Amino acid sequence: MSESLATVSYIGATILFILSLGGLSHPATSLRGNLYGIIGMTIAVLATIFGPRVTMAGIPWIIVSMVVGGSIGLYAARVVKMTQMPELVALMHSLVGLAACLVGFANYIDPVAAVNLSSAEKAIHEIEIYLGILIGAITFSGSIIAFGKLSGKIGGKPLLLPARHWMNLAGLLIIIYFGREFLHAESVSAGMTPLIVMTVIALLFGIHMVMAIGGADMPVVVSMLNSYSGWAAAATGFMLNNDLLIVTGALVGSSGAILSYIMCRAMARNFISVIAGGFGTGGGTPAAASGDVQPAGEVVAVSAAETAELLREAKNVIIVPGYGMAVAQAQHTVNEITQYLREQGINVRFGIHPVAGRMPGHMNVLLAEARVPYDIVLEMDELNQDFPNTDVAIVIGANDIVNPAAQDDPTSPIAGMPVLEVWKAKTSIVMKRSMASGYAGVDNPLFYKENNRMLFGDAKKMLEEVFVALKS
Ligand code: NDP
Repeated sequence: MSESLATVSYIGATILFILSLGGLSHPATSLRGNLYGIIGMTIAVLATIFGPRVTMAGIPWIIVSMVVGGSIGLYAARVVKMTQMPELVALMHSLVGLAACLVGFANYIDPVAAVNLSSAEKAIHEIEIYLGILIGAITFSGSIIAFGKLSGKIGGKPLLLPARHWMNLAGLLIIIYFGREFLHAESVSAGMTPLIVMTVIALLFGIHMVMAIGGADMPVVVSMLNSYSGWAAAATGFMLNNDLLIVTGALVGSSGAILSYIMCRAMARNFISVIAGGFGTGGGTPAAASGDVQPAGEVVAVSAAETAELLREAKNVIIVPGYGMAVAQAQHTVNEITQYLREQGINVRFGIHPVAGRMPGHMNVLLAEARVPYDIVLEMDELNQDFPNTDVAIVIGANDIVNPAAQDDPTSPIAGMPVLEVWKAKTSIVMKRSMASGYAGVDNPLFYKENNRMLFGDAKKMLEEVFVALKS
């Protein structure tokens, strides 16, 4: 393939990636968005393999790597449960970071990469390598820790080391100092020491940064690491002189940054404070691991039949889904109940909190999969003021996102986070298996409110019982 054809293919792929991002912004167009992405990626891969920079001798290597990597990816995608998706995404971000590090080292060692470069070009090339490895290493270790936290292998409690901000500052100064040493190194072997020292510090920084973030702030970390993985890919593009990788990385990096901003706004957090760490503690009681909290009051339990009775008498119903709906895979039963209630003339709507579940858009994906109509799925801001006019608010496996302590208790780890005000409905019903706390590890005063009822059990099983009772 000629250089010009490869360039045209790259431009085509870039346009398709932009269309893909546009399509993915709404459930109705997301299938089309996915398709654009697949076509764009296929063009990009083919144009790279058959482009002018890959020799015939390299093609078998690429094919073997693609078969091995593709098989692992296919296997992982088939076996992973929907509730494990966030961990899988974090793991994939770590691979982008690792790739940036490996490309950086390979590029530095490569004897031909810096041949025929002027001294200014050589300096730019080395800065690209240094920054590429720096971003890659932070993304790699940070994503591994995020994987551990999301999968529950590492507790949600923030690790607050004494003088942690000073440690971060010292790390930054050492990285700058060794960057200077690296640029002034006379030979590749002399440059290796500063490069390795910086990589180790960047790895430790990534670990420290994510360990210091409280459970409640994890959504911001997930989107932030998504952004970092984009910048790591862009840095790889600079090192490899690949324009498409630069553009694609920048698209992922900037969209991840916008998502982080949206997440911060949704949680009333300051981005810098989240990154500085420990913000999830809210300066008060540190978040406990899920399930650690003791119940602080009496609750009123209801049966599936009583829940059906309340629903039958209602005119306005709001359903608030959370992580538990994903665990129980209850979305299809939720859709059946919704259809049935709507056929009876009951106004049913869904209230979606921006951080519900364990990844951005988690609830929207599940509800779209179950074919819940998009027009009754509303954002928190769109319907929060409607709870006082609602007869029944059903909370399906959600906890932190409906916790009134966020508004009433300034010492709560989730203080200040906007929440869905389900307790303002005439009756709220919380569906969950026990009194265990949610991801942030805090007790929920909603459970003890006078107008609240608890329907204990697995969400899918209880909803099926409610549906049977509704129809009988
Ligand atoms: P929570 O984690 O606060 O609560 C989920 C609740 O679901 C639990 O209390 C659990 O209670 C219940 N549950 C679990 N399994 C089942 C089941 N099979 N049937 C019924 N109930 C079940 O989830 P929310 O969605 O309310 O809030 C999301 C939390 O996750 C926030 O703290 C957010 O910050 C955090 N987070 C969000 C991310 C994102 O990008 N959206 C990323 C990382 C973290 P029980 O065990 O008693 O059943």
